Amino acid sequence: MTVRVRFAPSPTGMFHVGGARSALQNWIFAKQQGGVFVLRIEDTDAARNKPEWTEGILSALEWIGIARGSYEGPYFQSSYAGEHRAAAQRLYESGRAYYCDCTREDVQARTGSQYAGYDGYCRDRGLGPGEGRALRFRTPDEGETVVVDLIRGEPTFENKLIEDFVIARGDGSPVFLLANVVDDMTMGITHVIRAEEHLPNTPKQQLLWDALGVKPPVWAHVPVVVNEKRQKLSKRRDKVALEAYRDEGYLADAMRNYLMLLGWAPSGDREIVPWSVIEEEYRLEDVNPSPAFFDEKKLRAFNGEYIRALPVEEFIAACEPWLTGTDTIAPPPWQPEEFDPAPFAAVAPLAQTRIAVLSEIVPNVDFLFLADPLIDEAAWTKAMKEGSAELLDAAIAAFDALESWDAESLKSTLEAVGAERGLKLGKAQAPVRVAVTGRTVGLPLFESLQVLGRERTLTRLRAARVRLV
Ligand code: GLU
Repeated sequence: MTVRVRFAPSPTGMFHVGGARSALQNWIFAKQQGGVFVLRIEDTDAARNKPEWTEGILSALEWIGIARGSYEGPYFQSSYAGEHRAAAQRLYESGRAYYCDCTREDVQARTGSQYAGYDGYCRDRGLGPGEGRALRFRTPDEGETVVVDLIRGEPTFENKLIEDFVIARGDGSPVFLLANVVDDMTMGITHVIRAEEHLPNTPKQQLLWDALGVKPPVWAHVPVVVNEKRQKLSKRRDKVALEAYRDEGYLADAMRNYLMLLGWAPSGDREIVPWSVIEEEYRLEDVNPSPAFFDEKKLRAFNGEYIRALPVEEFIAACEPWLTGTDTIAPPPWQPEEFDPAPFAAVAPLAQTRIAVLSEIVPNVDFLFLADPLIDEAAWTKAMKEGSAELLDAAIAAFDALESWDAESLKSTLEAVGAERGLKLGKAQAPVRVAVTGRTVGLPLFESLQVLGRERTLTRLRAARVRLV
């Protein structure tokens, strides 16, 4: 039997990092089993779905390494409405489901509680279909439903505790629980790997598989992802959109490596490993079932390591969207014609060792491409101490007289200028750095001045000097 797995997102918002992780887990499992990965867009909630979210899912999957054309689908749940209704009808005709006209208030009035669940009032009333009548599944009174779960063993649910749940609404439209099962059946899904939050649905869904006469899939409910307060990652509170990480300059390889480490570790004492190792070693059975902490700081550190490991030409190419701007990445503060690839290439190796996400390239190199540096006023105040005007005068004169405009000569020159005033190099550098780059921190100063060139450096030093008068 060929293994068939599916990833079944609902296109109701940005693509959640937890979703990306489930997608990758399905992807790896399919690959390991020589199986098929199916993408199904669960778009039946017409009020919340938007086509652009579907496009977002496809491109986010592509970014993370699940490329269009390398999987089956996308299928759209809304195209299978006929199958969903037919299954509901079959369950009704076989007596496994019945119509119910109770309102929520009716049930509450009878049970005296809003939490009691449905009390089975219409089970044997023999109601036929009709406007406003929901179709409910008749859950068995006895026995238990044992879910075979690769991560959780065999969670067992007593059938008598499962209420007769609704499978089609009063207007005849099947609910998620049923549509999801029918689609998995129609698509021949053998393993359902999905988020833990669906575990409470699973016994109900497995009862539907049984009632429809098809062997249920093997399940794997992957642990929920939480923030540092152990709260489930939420759209409103946490940064959860994969696209946001991509646009900030996380590398796809770093991201997917990190996502796979949530609740799992490769062999040996290592965390940063090539994707091929993950594909080989990852085992759903080894995933820790407890909540996994999504540690943004650690992800950032990971990304920095991935950035440093890039060949410099790849680093230069990877920075391009932040240097030019795209439809999702904000344009840099310089005009397109001000950008020059040659000086960028000259400082790129220095920047590569210093940034953790690619968007940080912009403040590190903007001094090269802006006509005037963006002066950070707090940095200016901090760096321009008493004596800075005289120091700048001396530096301007000494730099102007330099025969060779190179980092070494610039450094020894400023060292000498500082020493004459009893200043260590670090102190002497600060006013020069702010005058030229606008900031107190940045790439190594003398290499930066070398690349910026004599004329532009001196112009900026003189402008700063004027401001100090
Ligand atoms: N559409 C569901 C969701 O996005 C997926 C359900 C499933 O994987 O079975 O949560």
